Order: sequence, then structure tokens, then C-alpha cells
Amino acid sequence: MPVRRITKHGEKVLKTACPPLDYAAFKGELPDLLKDMWASMQSARGVGLAAPQIGLTLRLAIIDVKPEGKSERHVLINPEIVSLEGELNDEEGCLSLPGVYSKLKRHARARVRALDENGVLREIYGEGLLARALQHEIDHLDGKLFIDRIPFEERLPVLDAIKKAKLGWD
Ligand SMILES: [Zn+2]
Repeated sequence: MPVRRITKHGEKVLKTACPPLDYAAFKGELPDLLKDMWASMQSARGVGLAAPQIGLTLRLAIIDVKPEGKSERHVLINPEIVSLEGELNDEEGCLSLPGVYSKLKRHARARVRALDENGVLREIYGEGLLARALQHEIDHLDGKLFIDRIPFEERLPVLDAIKKAKLGWD
């Protein structure tokens, strides 16, 4: 079954920082795992998915911010932020918090270095939604959810929304 269940807020794996992935040791398993991740992300209509969201503490995430149009797939293995610039306050959501959205300030431009699915070191530059997705997915690999970044004084309505949304989660 290629489509995996997506872990939800409250599950421990989402709070776990993932150790670096040993590409040489893992490359044999990678193609099948990535197939499952793309299928799971598309089925959930997401623009990004990190390994902890299918229950794996691997430093691995995928992003495609143009699922409807010309697809632009990014595989991020052991991603590291090179630079962050600007500021953009925009709505954010997460497949691990279905039905919960909040405005969140993020950097407007992000440059990230990561291995791709072939083990090649690449630099990805993103603006707007791609910049947001890069920051969001790297947060997942550090055991952070977007709600953890919402200032404490703005968090109450979001916690309420989570309480309500949770009733409908699998
Ligand atoms: Zn997420």
C-alpha cells in the first residue's frame, strides 16, 4: 500500500529531531520510500511531506508547491539552511494538523542545501510559498510544527481550532 497514514499533532514522532540520514546505507530503500511519500502527499493534497509525518525519524522531506500545474519536485535529504531573507506573514497549514490554519511570519526567501534522491548536493532557492515550504519541512525534521512558532499570546485560538479539528482526525 503506497499511501501511508499521516501522523497527527500529539504523536511523539512529530516532536522528535531526526538524525542525519546515511545516504550510502539508505539509498537502496530510498526509491520505494519516495514513491510512497509522493503518493501520500498527493493523496492528502499537500505541498510538502517530511518523513516523521509517515512515522519515520529520517532527515528526509519532499516538496512540490505546484501540484496542479507544472510540477516542481524537490527531494531534500539532510537539508541545511544557507540563508534566509525578508519577512512574509501568510497563512500556513500542515498535513499533520488537518483543518487547522493560522497566519505565521516566515522568511520570504530561503536558500537551502540538500542531497537529492541521487545523492547529489544541490542548492534550492525559493521565494514565497516555496520558501515557506522549505522552512516548514526543515522544522519537521527538527521536531517542530508550525504552531510551535506562533507567538504565545496568539496561540489560544489555534489551540481551540486544534481541539475541534482533532475530533475528525484518523
Ligand atoms: Zn507540516
